[in-house]
Amino acid sequence: MKITSALQDTGDLKKNWSEVQLKLKETYGVDVFKSWIQNVEAKEINHNSLTLIVKTRFVRDWIVSHYADKILDFFQKLNPVVTRIQFEIHESFYNTKSADTNIVDFNTGSKIVNIQDNGYAANRLDHRLTFSNFVVGESNQLAFSAAKRVSESLGHYNPLFIYGSVGLGKTHLLNAIGNELKKTDKKIIYLSAERFMYQFVKSIKNKDTQKFKDVFRNADVLILDDIQFISGKEVTQEEFFYTFNSLTENQSQVIISCDRSPNDLDRIQDRIKSRLSGGLVVDIQSPDIALRLQILKNRCKTEETYFGKEVLINDEILSFIANEFKSSVRDMLGVLNRIIASSRIQNKTPTLQDAKMILKDLLSNMKAIISIEDIQKLVVSYYNLPMGDFLSSRRSRHIARPRQVAMYLAKKLTTKSLPEIGRKFTGRDHTTVIHAIKKIEELMAADKKFEYEVQDISNKILKNN
Ligand code: ADP
Ligand code: MG
Repeated sequence: MKITSALQDTGDLKKNWSEVQLKLKETYGVDVFKSWIQNVEAKEINHNSLTLIVKTRFVRDWIVSHYADKILDFFQKLNPVVTRIQFEIHESFYNTKSADTNIVDFNTGSKIVNIQDNGYAANRLDHRLTFSNFVVGESNQLAFSAAKRVSESLGHYNPLFIYGSVGLGKTHLLNAIGNELKKTDKKIIYLSAERFMYQFVKSIKNKDTQKFKDVFRNADVLILDDIQFISGKEVTQEEFFYTFNSLTENQSQVIISCDRSPNDLDRIQDRIKSRLSGGLVVDIQSPDIALRLQILKNRCKTEETYFGKEVLINDEILSFIANEFKSSVRDMLGVLNRIIASSRIQNKTPTLQDAKMILKDLLSNMKAIISIEDIQKLVVSYYNLPMGDFLSSRRSRHIARPRQVAMYLAKKLTTKSLPEIGRKFTGRDHTTVIHAIKKIEELMAADKKFEYEVQDISNKILKNN
């Protein structure tokens, strides 16, 4: 056989390759196509062998292990002569910027900063999230101990997988580990899985996957937050799995957080799930009331140290918050911040009623809103009046004043408009309501005892609801 006849006409070859690429796109989807297939060129067919050109070794390995069979399959249908595929690597991109240079970059200088500088650890460790300000209780004891243990002795549990629902302290623990290890000479990468994915896809676009690979696979510690983001993203899963394997093979530590257990992850390959469960899996449960209170108290202390000024929040309010905001520590602390902020602006210790007012929007989502009838009932019983008199048109002071108090509280404690309030008081006009509110405000400003009385009624209404 003459060489010339063995080399296929390039026109045909290009056409056939385009067709194969199209079929691969249909088979594997646009993501895979763009990531792995699109930039591959067909060079020649020599004897029975099709030569494809790829940009990096990494891409070649990936194609060989994932798509080569299908490529051959499709190609044979168009040209049965071809029985094998070979690859040529044209690392044009890396000629000026070799993979080795990247590794050197990574190794010199002080770990974290350097990783950040090259764009791979865009998530910074938050130095405020430490073990010392993590409050331990029954619900997070296990996760805390495991995290502490890992930070003291790498590789002890590998991987460490911490899961729990949102706002319970996973990111806090991950950062605490990172902050602890930052004191050593270990190379740490901390980032969210979302970021990992983003970097990976970007590296494919920039034909820079080698660098991606090197950066991650040279870490001593990889901390990956919110790994549930990887579910369903096939290509990223693969890359994560490869990274994960090569890290653990090198005895590097992997620490992962997730909003559910490995088994409950859907659309994640079984082999990945089983590798994720291969070290230690610990969960964080919702905190009980004692832990919630302690977290609130600690946060107040932190605030005081930070601002060098007392936080004006009493225990009654702290227990109120701890009782009402159970599901997420994050939400609970958000509520505390809001009250602290308001107390700073007003420069006074808020009463329970104030706190409830500050949180009116949140509370009204959680329970029925106070009705004007509730207010009327309480005011009537407080002043020991018959409801009939109270709602009548009588103007004697001992009836008119409580009526005004009720109108004032209706405005303060409900979201009803002035005309609506007026209507509930046997069809009074909204100007009557305005007058009542003004009157009560004046009286409260002038008379401490009266102010206390109104506040007392208000507290009773809020407590009943
Ligand atoms: P997750 O990552 O689980 O959604 P985070 O770690 O972001 O939750 O926690 C939410 C907020 O609650 C953070 O401000 C964190 O510092 C705080 N937090 C959670 N648990 C604790 C705890 N046990 N002690 C102190 N702060 C906590
Ligand atoms: Mg988190």
